[in-house]
Amino acid sequence: MSKILILKEKKEFIPELDKSLIVVKQRQYFVEDLNQDFHTNYGVIGKDELKKKDGSIIKSSQGKEFILFSAGFTDKYKRIKRLPQTMPLKDIGLIIAETAINKDSIIVEAGVGSGALTACLANICKQVYSYEINQQHLDASKQNLEMLDLKNINIKNKDIYQGIDEKEVDVIVLDLAEPWQVINHAKTSLKIGGFFVSYSPSATQLQNFVNELNKQDNFIVIKSVELLERFWKVEGRIVRPKIMPIAHSGFITIARRIC
Ligand code: SAH
Repeated sequence: MSKILILKEKKEFIPELDKSLIVVKQRQYFVEDLNQDFHTNYGVIGKDELKKKDGSIIKSSQGKEFILFSAGFTDKYKRIKRLPQTMPLKDIGLIIAETAINKDSIIVEAGVGSGALTACLANICKQVYSYEINQQHLDASKQNLEMLDLKNINIKNKDIYQGIDEKEVDVIVLDLAEPWQVINHAKTSLKIGGFFVSYSPSATQLQNFVNELNKQDNFIVIKSVELLERFWKVEGRIVRPKIMPIAHSGFITIARRIC
């Protein structure tokens, strides 16, 4: 069990300046070990305090107040070790919603990379079978998935271009360089009606994948999309897009096996 500690932002009215200023900035801490005192920049919090129930207000040795609650999936997810580029949550969200992944879904995924997508899939589906060829990525992703306490993942040290062992799969999700090399395997592994998804950063990968799929009778391409995410600053009367470029992540193609 791990917990989150929030030090709430505090503002004070300064009469000389005739305005409120932030005197304590909001801070968030992740507490992994509840059996040891926890050190913050604002003093130490005793281990007995850390065991109090969610929503408790607890005090540090410097008298600063923190709100305490249990860490959830996203709190732990943010702490995963990232080796290759992970898939952003916006793209993961789209894939999950478009393919209606739920507690009964059986999913095949490749490659695992750091296990970011794997974790989000396993968090809601029945079982994930994940293929990965790189030993370093295998080790890092196993550590990440252990930290997240996910048990419904079978990670295989296998090249998915050589084949897929599983049959009657609901969804196949690919995040690798040559997704078109998996089309023939997806034909026999996916259920009829099952979803075949590929995520690729480059337009030429998208082009090859979709053109290859379109040559097949077994699949229909539902859509290819790029999802742009824009962050907004909301502060009193200031409500405007944050000044930062809208970054490109990848193109997502969603297809379905029809025969
Ligand atoms: N979706 C992952 C990132 C995947 S990065 C995440 O969100 O964390 C791509 C991964 O695919 C790399 O780790 C690479 O080693 C792996 N890979 C490349 N070709 C592969 C293949 N033929 N079979 C299995 N894994 C492969």
